[in-house]
Order: sequence, then C-alpha cells, then structure tokens
Amino acid sequence: MSEPRFIVVGGGLAGLMTTIKLCEAGRRVDLFSLTPVKRSHSVCAQGGINGAVNIKGENDSPELHFVDSVKGGDFLANQPLVKGMCYAAPSIIYLLDRMGVTFNRTPEGNLDFRRFGGTLFHRTAFAGATTGQQMLYALDEQVRRYESEGLVRKFEYSEFLGFVKDGEGVCRGIVALDLRAMTVQAFRGDAVFLATGGPAMLYGRTTNSVVNSGSAAASAYLQGAKYANGEFIQVHPTAIPGEDKLRLISESVRGEGGRCWVSRTKGDTRPPRQIPESERLYFFEEKYPRYGNLVPRDIASREIYDLCENKGLGVDGQLVVYLDVTHIPKETLDRKLGGVLEIYEKFMGEDPREVPMRIAPAVHYSMGGLWIDYEAGPDGFPKVGNPRNQQTSIPGLFAVGEVDYEYHGANRLGANSLLSCVYAGMIGGPAGSSYASGLKTPAADLPSSAFDQAEALWRERLTGIRNMSGTVNPYELARELGEVMNANVTIVRDNKKLQETDARIVEMMDRWKKINTLDKGGWNNMPVAFVNQLWHMMELALVVTRGAIRREESRGAHYKPEKPQRDDANWLKTTIATWSKEGPQITYEKVDTSLIQPVARKYD
Ligand SMILES: Cc1cc2nc3c(=O)[nH]c(=O)nc-3n(C[C@H](O)[C@H](O)[C@H](O)COP(=O)(O)OP(=O)(O)OC[C@H]3O[C@@H](n4cnc5c(N)ncnc54)[C@H](O)[C@@H]3O)c2cc1C
Repeated sequence: MSEPRFIVVGGGLAGLMTTIKLCEAGRRVDLFSLTPVKRSHSVCAQGGINGAVNIKGENDSPELHFVDSVKGGDFLANQPLVKGMCYAAPSIIYLLDRMGVTFNRTPEGNLDFRRFGGTLFHRTAFAGATTGQQMLYALDEQVRRYESEGLVRKFEYSEFLGFVKDGEGVCRGIVALDLRAMTVQAFRGDAVFLATGGPAMLYGRTTNSVVNSGSAAASAYLQGAKYANGEFIQVHPTAIPGEDKLRLISESVRGEGGRCWVSRTKGDTRPPRQIPESERLYFFEEKYPRYGNLVPRDIASREIYDLCENKGLGVDGQLVVYLDVTHIPKETLDRKLGGVLEIYEKFMGEDPREVPMRIAPAVHYSMGGLWIDYEAGPDGFPKVGNPRNQQTSIPGLFAVGEVDYEYHGANRLGANSLLSCVYAGMIGGPAGSSYASGLKTPAADLPSSAFDQAEALWRERLTGIRNMSGTVNPYELARELGEVMNANVTIVRDNKKLQETDARIVEMMDRWKKINTLDKGGWNNMPVAFVNQLWHMMELALVVTRGAIRREESRGAHYKPEKPQRDDANWLKTTIATWSKEGPQITYEKVDTSLIQPVARKYD
C-alpha cells in the first residue's frame, strides 16, 4: 500500500504551521500557494499575537483570555476550540520566540506585551510593527528545513481550482492551475488542507492585499462544502484611504495610548491642533470609561459610524475621526509604532507625531468561512489528534486559518487571528494525519478516472473563460461588486438595502456571462484566473448578503437598526450556507456554549 499524501493549499501562517505539524509526524506534503509563501497575506499583520503570559503581574490567565474572546465574539463561537486556543497561546508565543521571532522586549529582557481591543490586560506580544512578517519568516524557515529534507514540495504561483471527489464524495486531491504555464493538473492527497485566507476582495478596497479573493473557499462551497457565518464581516475602525487599498492603522496605536476624538462642535473647520482640549470629544473614553479607546472593533466602528453619520460630528462632515498620538513621547512612538506611523506619513503626507491622524473604518476580516468540525473531551478542550478537528463537511477536506469560521464568533478580538491561524495548524495537522491513517485505500492507489475527469472539467471551464468575448469588463464588474457590498453590507445592515444588493448580485452574475476576458494568451494569463475567481466572489457575496438578510438581530459585526438588540432566544445559532442552483440554502446549527453562559456584553 502506498504512503498517504498530504496537500496544503496556502502558505500563510495557518498553512505553514499545518505543514510543520505534518512533517513533524514524518508526512510528505505538497504545498501550493498563489504567491511565494513568504509573500502570503499574513506578512501584513502589524500589531501582535495574543497570549496570557501574565509577565506584567496583572493576574491575567488563559481562562480570562478565553472569557474575553468568547465575550468579544458576542457568544457566537463554539467554545471548546476557543478554550484550546487560549490555553495554548502562551506556549505558542514561547515557541515562536525560540524559533527566532524578534519580539519586542522590556529593558529587563522579558517579552514585552501591549494592550489590544476587548481586554484590560497587556496580552499582545509584538515584533515592532511587523509581527506577521517575523512570524511568517520564522515558520518559513522551518518549512524550508523540511523541504531540504525532501518532505515538502512547493508549488508557488499555483492556484487551487477545486478538489477531487471519489465516488463516495470523499476528497482525494485537488486540481491546480500553474499560473505561468496555464497548465491544469490534478494532484492526489489523502488529507487536503485549505489555508487560503479570507475573502476581503468581495469588498473591493479593504485593508487586505489583493490575493484574498476567497475563491478557493467558494470553489469548495460550490462542490458541496458548507460555509458558516458568512454575514459576519469585520470592519476595522482605523484605516486610511488609498486608490489601491485602505491601509490599516493598527489597533496597536490605541494599545500604546492613541486617543480618538472629534470636535464637539458640528461643522468645525479648524485644523485639529487649534481645537482646544476642552472642546474635544474623546468619545470612546466618555462612553466606555473602563475600556476607553480599546473597545472591541465592532463596537468601535459602530460608534464612529453613529458619531459621523447620525450626529454629523465627523471631521469635515465625513466618516472620519482623529486618532491622536501627539501626546506620546517620540522615542516611544518610534520604538513601538515606527512602521505604522511611517505608513501614515508616507501616504497622507503628514507626520502623525505632530498632527492627529484622520482615520476611517474599513473592511478588514471575515469571521465567516468554511464550516469545520471538532471533537472536545470532558474537560472542554479539543482532543488533539482527533480526525474531526478542522475537518470540513467534506471527508478528507480540512480548513485552517482565516478560511475557517471558528474561533471568533460574531467579532474577532484584535491579535487573536495570528493566534487562531497557528493554533488551527497545530491541531489541524495531527487531525489530517490520523484521518489519513484510517483510510483503506490511499489516494495514490486509486484508479486515475476521478482525477482525469476533474482535470478535464477544469480545462474545459478555463478554456471557456479564455474564449469569452462579450462586452463586459471583468475588472469593472469586480469594482462594482466591491462598491455595492461596501455600501450596503458593512457596519449597518438595512433590510431594504440588503434585498437590493441581493438582486444586484444576481444581475451581476448574469452580466458575468457577457464578459470579455481581454487576454487570449496561453502564458501567464491573469484575466483568465481572475474571471474564474470573480464568479466565486459573487457566489460568496450572495452567501454574505443572504445570511445578513435572514439574521433578524444585531450581534457583533452584524448590526440591524430594525433589530438593534442581540436575540439569543432566536439567533444564538451558526448560519450554514449550502450551495444550490437557486442560490445558498440557509440552515442553522446550535452553538456550543457549554463552558461560558452568554451574558449581556458590556464595556462601559
Ligand atoms: C493589514 C492587516 C493587519 C493585520 N494585523 C493583525 C495582527 O496584528 N494580529 C492578528 O492577530 N491578526 C492580524 N490581521 C489578520 C491576520 O493577518 C490574518 O487573518 C491571517 O494572517 C490570515 O492567515 P492565513 O494563514 O489564514 O491566510 P493568509 O496569510 O492570507 O494566506 C493565504 C494563503 O493562501 C494562498 N491562496 C489563497 N487562495 C489560493 C488559491 N486559490 N490557490 C492557492 N493558494 C491560495 C495565498 O497565496 C497565501 O499563501 C491583520 C490583517 C490585515 C489585513
């Protein structure tokens, strides 16, 4: 019998940690990525990674981290996985430290920690303003070691198109597109991991970089994998506009003492430095005296929206407020926030050390993603090595990282994502490994028919796309999708506008069929790949919008003015979308709240 094979799609933190765990168990991995793995989106993370190491003597603990995370997620997260993540967090930070992540240190040489949103503790370890980059490079080095030992084969510039199912509906491999040669090829795998990040591109310009289209997850959804909590899209309160993207101004700025304010006077046109202290409204500090500027993101974004759109107090009448660090010593700013402030200075042309920053909310993260399973023990912790962990509704197909829906409920706490990605890889790898050990016939020994068929189907689909010669420009269509989603399915969800958005997406799907693919070439043809992704993006946009229409309450990142309260009696449940020709079929599933009982969520 042949040795089992493993496929990891995605070389961000989640994909690399999964690969490491598989290799530690002696497994062989084929690792696919659109970009070189070191350029995966994880590289952009600035602020830090959470773990209750309690080095500052605040009596912090993994249990308090667990409570903060569940409350931060407005009680929509299945609790055992969150518990496992929070208890593993301190050892993950020490592990990364040993791997060489250059975390900031205190003058005594201890790891330094800062505050982040949704907690009163200094719980976020950070490496200047490049935490994600340092972590990604550290994991990349480990994977390179396994690559040199022959355990890992890397396929960079390679796009996952879909998975291969056998006659019993079990995932047995993938079909990938070589983005340079434009060749389509099937690969066999007994456990396939999607670690393909979030779907931010649905929203056009966001804080994300352009590769995060959600296309891989959508493709799996089209093949039958369930998609959960799609409507929970996180809007980060602090970003700056740009023609290409909206640049994040990390929560670490508020964690290091940055203060948000506006003038108390509507229509005040004075430059910020001329507005005296007594005339400034420090809105977070006034309304939420305990958490101040570090309320969770959903609450912060909603507050800014209310202040600017309903009360008309936004800077220059826009959806803009000040984020001020001018009171913090320059030496501290340069040491702890240098990179973030440089971004502002470079793109806005003003020095934030001297002038308060003008910031606005921007789409940032998706709490929703592929539905995954887990198995918890009587102690409430996930059972490591259980094949159910991180497995999607398709046997043999696993999801790890931002692409899965677990860990964050209705709203993610800042700095919990780097953690959840690493943790998901740590429990996903062993789960896939034991799943593969239980298979009677490894993928390598199966007849080639299912693989040949899947390859042929994708070749046909891409040839069809390459030959599309209608009148619609695919990039214009994508821009329109981003605009409509941004306008109607972000901070405030009005049912009428959601219905209009739904109809608009359906109409855009019709226009997709009249696309002109622009490039008919056979080498490095990006429009072909993009047109395929665009269809997937529209399918996901429908999942997000229909989930939002159906959820008649306000919870976490989902806020409906018509139903402004959380409604546990009717809506403490996970939204599950299953693909059908008529659009997403929506059902609901109970949330596991066995460890912490839901209570009112207050930060004042
Ligand atoms: C600007 C910014 C700052 C952030 N800062 C923080 C922070 O300080 N702390 C925190 O906890 N979180 C932060 N986050 C969130 C966090 O960075 C991400 O959620 C996390 O890094 C996602 O990691 P991942 O491994 O799941 O996916 P990614 O890092 O996005 O990697 C996805 C991988 O999948 C590959 N891929 C995608 N589609 C395909 C396909 N079809 N075929 C083949 N490969 C594919 C990509 O090439 C890539 O390798 C930040 C996010 C942003 C946008």
